[in-house]
Amino acid sequence: MLIGVIADDFTGATDIAGFLVASGVSTTQLIGVPPDDLNVEAEAVVISLKSRSCPPDEAVAASLAALAWLRARDCPRIYQKYCSTFDSSRTGNIGPVADALLDGLKSDFTVVCPALPINGRTIYNGYLFVNGVPLAESGMRDHPVTPMTDSSLVRLMEAQSLGRCGVVAADTVDKGVPAVRAALEKLRIEGRRYAVLDALNAQHLDTLGAAVADMPLVTGGSGLAAGMAKAWRRRTQDPSRAASAGAPVPGRGVVISGSASQMTNAQVAEYKAQAPSFAVDPERCLADQTGYAAEMAEWVLAQPRYGLAPLVYATTNPEALKKIQARFGNAASTAIETTFAALARTLAEAGVTRFIVAGGETSGAVVQALGVSGFHIGPQIAPGVPWVRAVDKPYSLALKSGNFGDVGFFFDCQPEGVAR
Ligand code: ADP
Repeated sequence: MLIGVIADDFTGATDIAGFLVASGVSTTQLIGVPPDDLNVEAEAVVISLKSRSCPPDEAVAASLAALAWLRARDCPRIYQKYCSTFDSSRTGNIGPVADALLDGLKSDFTVVCPALPINGRTIYNGYLFVNGVPLAESGMRDHPVTPMTDSSLVRLMEAQSLGRCGVVAADTVDKGVPAVRAALEKLRIEGRRYAVLDALNAQHLDTLGAAVADMPLVTGGSGLAAGMAKAWRRRTQDPSRAASAGAPVPGRGVVISGSASQMTNAQVAEYKAQAPSFAVDPERCLADQTGYAAEMAEWVLAQPRYGLAPLVYATTNPEALKKIQARFGNAASTAIETTFAALARTLAEAGVTRFIVAGGETSGAVVQALGVSGFHIGPQIAPGVPWVRAVDKPYSLALKSGNFGDVGFFFDCQPEGVAR
């Protein structure tokens, strides 16, 4: 194992896992702190927690449990992954978790770098910018759970954590790896516990990644991890095979679409013109989830075994969705998710092995229903959507949130030999 990542939410974990695989590091993503008897063989293990906005003591406890699991497997370095907009509050959870991980590793110094220039998140003089706008003036100011009202990563980190925080400025990063290492050492000797790393572009992340590639603890967004992965290139097995453990398993497939996004609507329309399809009636989900799920499963299993995977969809246009919501509120959405969960469970028992799921929440419901503890990250189907293969079950999944993929996405998920 080259690195163990402790991520503060599921999509954040998926994000960094994708960056690592794309950088040639074989990666397994685990959901929650894994059981003691689970063993995985991958160069990177990403543990996804739900610790972004829970009480700080819970975030610390979960992060330390993840650390213990990783260290029991001789993991040589730890990466604390948080959002590129530093989603947190005055009391946590980034600072308290970083403090606890440092103590757990008997270390006294680490770096802070949420930058992801490819998505417009840059750091200059220790201030975080979102598409050129200071964090506290960006949309993050009004975030419902973690409103960000300060753009200074130094102040944010000092308010949340025990130590003092310095900055490695962009002009130092421009000078290269030895200059960054010297600046870090200087800050450490001065008694700083944290160093915010300026990063304005991909070149900066590569320099920074090389400079921190062997620190026991690094904290940041997914960009810095990609920089580190490049620095390990000579140590990784075979970068071209990084995604092979996640390649899709053969077998019967189903498409379950619970996303109501514009792109998913277009994808469903394109696909159902050629594939067998079943339109879900939200009212029936509300009335009898179990009976209705059984009916859907029977329909899926009655479709031809070979050819395009059958599609079951709740996806509908915004007007129809508004009407349903006006009548039933959120109950309809929840009932659809529960029905899809029951459908996935029944289909898995009947031998379906490929689950193509549209919708972030819908994916969460299906993954939970299938009882999967984690995935090997496989080849990309579309940017940001890889095939993933369950670590402990014979399933492959394509989990697509809202607007990901292009209009032919569901066709792109078919086994080789089944063309549009
Ligand atoms: P996305 O990634 O596009 O946001 P999600 O699965 O996260 O997709 O969220 C979509 C939500 O909309 C789910 O809770 C789903 O059950 C709900 N939904 C989908 N279709 C309908 C519908 N026809 N009526 C009511 N709710 C729906």
